[in-house]
Amino acid sequence: MNQSLSGVALWNGSRFDGIRRLEWNTAGADGTITAITSEPGTSPEPGASPVDSGQGSGLGSATAPAEFSVIPGLIDTHVHLVGNAAATPADFLTWPLTTRPEEQTLHALAHSLEAMRGGVTTVRDLAADDIQFSLRRAVDAGVVTGPRLIAHGVVNMTAGHSDLFIPPAFPLRKPVADGPDACRALVRHWARAGTDGIKIPVSGGVLSVGDKSAWRNYTRAEIAAIVDEAHAFGMLVAAHAHTEAGIQIALDEGIDSIEHGTLMTAEQAAAIASTRVTVAPTLLINERIAAGENGVSAEQSAKAQELVVNRNRLMRDAADLGVDFVLGTDANGHHVKFGDQMEEVRLMAALFGWTAERALQAATSRAAAAIGRSSSVGTLETGRPADFLVMRGTPWQNIDDLHTGNIVAVVSRGRVVAGVLPRS
Ligand SMILES: [Zn+2]
Repeated sequence: MNQSLSGVALWNGSRFDGIRRLEWNTAGADGTITAITSEPGTSPEPGASPVDSGQGSGLGSATAPAEFSVIPGLIDTHVHLVGNAAATPADFLTWPLTTRPEEQTLHALAHSLEAMRGGVTTVRDLAADDIQFSLRRAVDAGVVTGPRLIAHGVVNMTAGHSDLFIPPAFPLRKPVADGPDACRALVRHWARAGTDGIKIPVSGGVLSVGDKSAWRNYTRAEIAAIVDEAHAFGMLVAAHAHTEAGIQIALDEGIDSIEHGTLMTAEQAAAIASTRVTVAPTLLINERIAAGENGVSAEQSAKAQELVVNRNRLMRDAADLGVDFVLGTDANGHHVKFGDQMEEVRLMAALFGWTAERALQAATSRAAAAIGRSSSVGTLETGRPADFLVMRGTPWQNIDDLHTGNIVAVVSRGRVVAGVLPRS
C-alpha cells in the first residue's frame, strides 16, 4: 500500500530540503520512502521558503508556511530497555533480580513502545542479552511493533561497573570475563547469541553499588583483546567511561564510541574531534541522579554530584573543539523515561551552545553514523526506510519546537505507530 503526505516542510537529517510531497510504501515488514518531490506552486529552493533553514534570506516569498514539518525519527544510541515499565514504581536495583526474564521481556517491549510514542524510532541497548536479541528479532519479523533495536552485549570484569548492579551474594549473575582470553571468549559468546556489538565499562559507574566512578575497569591488554575480537566480527565497541584515565585507555585501544565521557579534558576532546569516535553525553540522567530524584541512594547521588560539578564546563569546551556528541540518554525507564529523549536534545543544545540544526543532527544523521547505520536510518531520502515524525513547528530552526507535545504522528517502517497523519 502506498501513502503520502503533501505540503510538508521536510528536514532531511542534515538540512531543510523544502516544501515537499513525501510518498512511501508499507509493503512487507519494512516500509520505504518511494518519492520526495517538490510541490507544484511552492518553491523548491529552501532559501525561498518561509521555513528557511538559515542559509537563504527567506524574505519576499509569497508561499504560505507549511502547517506541518517532517523530520527523521530520532535515534537514541544508549538505552536500557529492561526495567520496570509499570505505572507502579519499583526499586531500581532489585526489580531485575526478582522479575523473571520472560516478564522482563514484556517490560522491555513496553519501553520500546513508549520510546516510539516519544518520537524515537531507533534505539541501541547497551546491556543486551537474550531478552533484547529476542525482542529485536520479533520486531524485525513484524511479530510486534517496536523501534529498530541495535543490541550490544556487555563484556565486564568481576567487580566491574556492570557486575556491581547485582549484590555479591546473589547467585544468578550476568557473565563476567577476566584476562584477555576470557574476554575474547565472552565476545564470541555474544557473537553466537546474535549481538550487534559490544559494550565495555572502562571506569566505575554511578548507579552500580560499592564502586567509585574513578575505579579502573580492565587492563590495557584486556581492552585490546576485546576491541580486536569485536572488530574481527565487524562489531562496534561502545566504552562506558566517566574518567580521564578511562577515556584515554578506551581511545588508545581503538573503541568506537565513548558513553558518558563526563570528565574528558580539552586535550582528549581535541583528539576525539579528529577521529570518528562519538560521545553520548547522557546529560539528563546524571543531572537527575545528582539532584537525588527518583529514589536514588545517597551513594549514587554523591557519585553523580562529584561528576557533574565540572562536567558542564568540560563538555561545553569539548563541543567547541568539535567533539561529535550524539543523542545517548542512558534511558532506563526509571531515572530517564522513554519519551524524555527530546528533552535531552534540548539540554544538549543549551549546554553545548549549538544551533537547533546541529542539535537535531546529533539525534538523527550523526546518531545513525555513531551506531553504524548511516546508510539506512537518520536521513530521509528516496529508497530509505520510512521512519519519520510529523510535527508542528520547525525544530531545526527552534529547538524548543522539538517537544513531544508537538508530535502529530510517528511513522516507523512506513506505519503510523503514534498519532494520526494529517490529511493531505
Ligand atoms: Zn548505560
